[in-house]
Amino acid sequence: MSLAPSPLSPLTELQTTRYGLFIDNQQVEPADGAYLDVLNPATGRVWAQVPDASLADVDRAVASARAAFEGEWADWRAADRAAFLIRFGQAIADHADEIAQLQVDENGKLIREMAGQARLMPEYFNYYAGLAQMPTGHTNPLHLKQMLNYTVREPLGVVAAITPWNSPLLLLVWKLGPALAAGCTVIAKPSEITPVSTIRIAELAAECGLPPGVFNVVTGYGQPSGTALTTHPGVDKIAFTGSTATGQAIAAAAGRSLKSLSLELGGKSPNIVFEDADLTSAVNGLIAGIFGASGQTCMAGSRILVQRSVYDRVVEELAERAERITVGDPQDDRSEMGTIACRPQYDKVLHYIDVAKGEGARLVAGGTPATVDGFEGGLFLRPTVFADVRNDMQIAQEEVFGPIAAVIPFEDEDDAVRIANDTQFGLAAGVWTGNVQRAHRVAGKLRAGTVWINNYRKTGYNTPFGGYKQSGVGRENGPDALREYTEEKSVWVDMGQGVKDPFNPRA
Ligand code: NAD
Repeated sequence: MSLAPSPLSPLTELQTTRYGLFIDNQQVEPADGAYLDVLNPATGRVWAQVPDASLADVDRAVASARAAFEGEWADWRAADRAAFLIRFGQAIADHADEIAQLQVDENGKLIREMAGQARLMPEYFNYYAGLAQMPTGHTNPLHLKQMLNYTVREPLGVVAAITPWNSPLLLLVWKLGPALAAGCTVIAKPSEITPVSTIRIAELAAECGLPPGVFNVVTGYGQPSGTALTTHPGVDKIAFTGSTATGQAIAAAAGRSLKSLSLELGGKSPNIVFEDADLTSAVNGLIAGIFGASGQTCMAGSRILVQRSVYDRVVEELAERAERITVGDPQDDRSEMGTIACRPQYDKVLHYIDVAKGEGARLVAGGTPATVDGFEGGLFLRPTVFADVRNDMQIAQEEVFGPIAAVIPFEDEDDAVRIANDTQFGLAAGVWTGNVQRAHRVAGKLRAGTVWINNYRKTGYNTPFGGYKQSGVGRENGPDALREYTEEKSVWVDMGQGVKDPFNPRA
């Protein structure tokens, strides 16, 4: 059977392709026939349409996922789920180029970054395939005689996986791997900016033998599609990645029906350079930390803290390096930075450049749109560096989610830790130093879910990722992520003589 995408209809006149909701292993039309446009941010061209799902569509997807949860899927052994995950990973590997390409068309990130992520995804599935067959419970020693107690972990139920546009598939895979390994069913709600790639991998899952309804996709905006999922009584868990503001709204909505919740939210991560660091390596790490993915990563090292004694030198090198970055066609391997993913985000980043100037930060690189020959409609920006930022400025406190570095001087270790922790966020941090004691001392004091020492922006399936403070609730990846998709049941067994009459124990 062909694995080519099966769009509902090619709209040849506009050269766009219309996709459907993905429910019960097939693309279906939305109940009210409403669609939204998908734009390529490098060309400005509409290249696809997907349903703008209504409440009726969400009801249909939830009913399908519930039926699947209680149907054939419930009979699959852990070994069967593991074998599926390995097959699915292989299918993704076989289609890595196509999957990478779709995401570049959606969000304008570099093909080499998207291709790298696509190649990594099978490893996530392989990892959770292994964990799917690990023991899930305990036998618990009791304070009572002749009683046995054991625990089992059971799949939590129907999971709504709501994802952002910056790494549409990798962040979905972080949820799909453990959810399917645990035996849950999943309804993915990708960002309205990047929906097509998610439909595509749902097709691949179906081709790999996943029963209908185990992995559905509902496309649409936060309102009404997203809220329909977060308030739906048939959804047991919400696994969300996105902005802190949306996460707060989702937590409030989910609270009303007490759904299980994991939230991976925003950041304003400090990347801290001490005077004893290898400055060549540090500057490379600072550049990668903020300009990788055009700064559109939750873990962007957007606050660069530099010790006063090396401050001028680091600022000068950063500015010079930022100006040298090649902004260009995301499909071109020579490009070092692609586009901003969508017009509202582009306008937001430009707004923050004005805010930073107004606050008195010193612009030392970039600060304007970039022009790329042949891509006049593209959302390109120059890598931008602001020096002499104070930590109480908006540019240091609010997440921009774009290629804007805010450089802040500090005096000593205590000062660095104080500034680093003076934020509502707590997602990640970097520490650059040649002093091993200092490295661990500072890592221990930083209120962040991930700390990199003499490196930046590394993640993996085998170690937890998540935020302190307003950067999130719960952790993804690593062995414990599987628990986030299970309920724990305690089972009591009487191994004695049975139960006596409680009101007449001698009888
Ligand atoms: P967003 O919060 O605007 O949207 C994320 C998703 O939520 C989209 O699918 C959107 O349609 C949906 N949504 C919006 N409003 C909703 C509502 N009221 N109810 C339910 N769903 C709703 O985020 P974005 O702009 O797509 O992505 C950028 C943000 O994501 C940044 O803040 C970034 O830091 C964060 N992010 C976090 C991580 C992490 O792991 N911590 C990773 C990547 C991105």
